[in-house]
Amino acid sequence: MGNVVHDVIIIGAGPAGLGAALYTSRDRLKTLMLEKFMPGGQIINTDRIENYPGIEQIGGPGLIERMQKQVESFGAEIKTGCEVTKLERLKDGSIAVYCDKDKFSARVVILAPGSGYRNLGIPGEEKFRGAGVSYCGTCDAPFFKGKQVVAVGGGNTAVEETLHLAKFADKVTMIHRRDEFRAAKVLVEELLKKVNEPNSNLIIKYSTVATAIEGEGKVQSVKLKNVKTGQEEDYPCEGVFIFIGMVPNTGFLKDFVELTDRGFIKCDCAYLRTNVPGVFVAGDCRIGAAMQLATAVADGVIAAMMLKQYFRDKNWWNEPVSDLLQPGGW
Ligand SMILES: Cc1cc2nc3c(=O)[nH]c(=O)nc-3n(C[C@H](O)[C@H](O)[C@H](O)COP(=O)(O)OP(=O)(O)OC[C@H]3O[C@@H](n4cnc5c(N)ncnc54)[C@H](O)[C@@H]3O)c2cc1C
Repeated sequence: MGNVVHDVIIIGAGPAGLGAALYTSRDRLKTLMLEKFMPGGQIINTDRIENYPGIEQIGGPGLIERMQKQVESFGAEIKTGCEVTKLERLKDGSIAVYCDKDKFSARVVILAPGSGYRNLGIPGEEKFRGAGVSYCGTCDAPFFKGKQVVAVGGGNTAVEETLHLAKFADKVTMIHRRDEFRAAKVLVEELLKKVNEPNSNLIIKYSTVATAIEGEGKVQSVKLKNVKTGQEEDYPCEGVFIFIGMVPNTGFLKDFVELTDRGFIKCDCAYLRTNVPGVFVAGDCRIGAAMQLATAVADGVIAAMMLKQYFRDKNWWNEPVSDLLQPGGW
């Protein structure tokens, strides 16, 4: 591997990538992060995080600024405006990573390109993002305490998140485009039990879609349409939660690592190894991800720890590695 400049290339400078870079750069591994836009990932879109352990409240940009400074202080290099389009195993065993005009190479790669929430694509959705429109009940439900909200979706996550919302909001209206649920039976039973409780704060509108989100400066109502009757109504609410799935940013990886049907990167979830030796994965882009800030960071840390074992097995790392990090069988 004579010409390899970097020990590790990390694709994506979101929380998972930054978590990984902190550990690799602090271990004196030459670390390069390649980021399509700017450091931060999804979390820079929120100004209030309340569930990152040890920090009562912080804005996404503030937290990311600290993370970025920390990794750079240990020598990690972050290249922004660099969208990775292709990866390739080279003859000498290193991995080539291609951006627009540039080509980089490293001994190992950590994939951390994240995911995006699937959008409804209706008028008002973009405008009120962060001002009443949310995609994460676990993150934002407490901000809607005592308010009326609408939850759109009908899958497992939608049902779980709607039940969570009902613990905070005054009234939750679930909008489901079909006339029955396809979510897991046990979840649907729990949902219907809650709906049928006396004075329940949860109602379901079946065969209904949201067609627009409206308001002045913040969400005040959502336009609903019954897909069977065509009847439309303006439905008052202060929040619209959209739970219609995630889309992983993994299109560029389909010829390089194994993906699930939905595009999530397959891995052994304990060690975060992909099917390609020397290629690890971290964060929201992987199968089974919890889609949270803390778990994305934790994934980055795990991937960074695991690659040390890989380095040791290749005789690239002379220091001892904890016996706990002994998956073997690379
Ligand atoms: C509005 C909002 C609020 C949230 N609030 C909370 C909260 O309060 N608490 C919480 O726990 N979680 C919250 N989340 C979820 C949290 O942000 C994510 O779980 C977390 O950011 C996932 O981190 P990640 O690094 O895996 O992916 P991402 O954050 O998605 O970062 C991936 C990075 O990779 C880059 N990238 C993608 N493709 C490429 C490519 N081909 N080449 C180079 N770079 C690429 C992207 O530009 C991005 O910067 C929120 C999410 C959103 C959208």
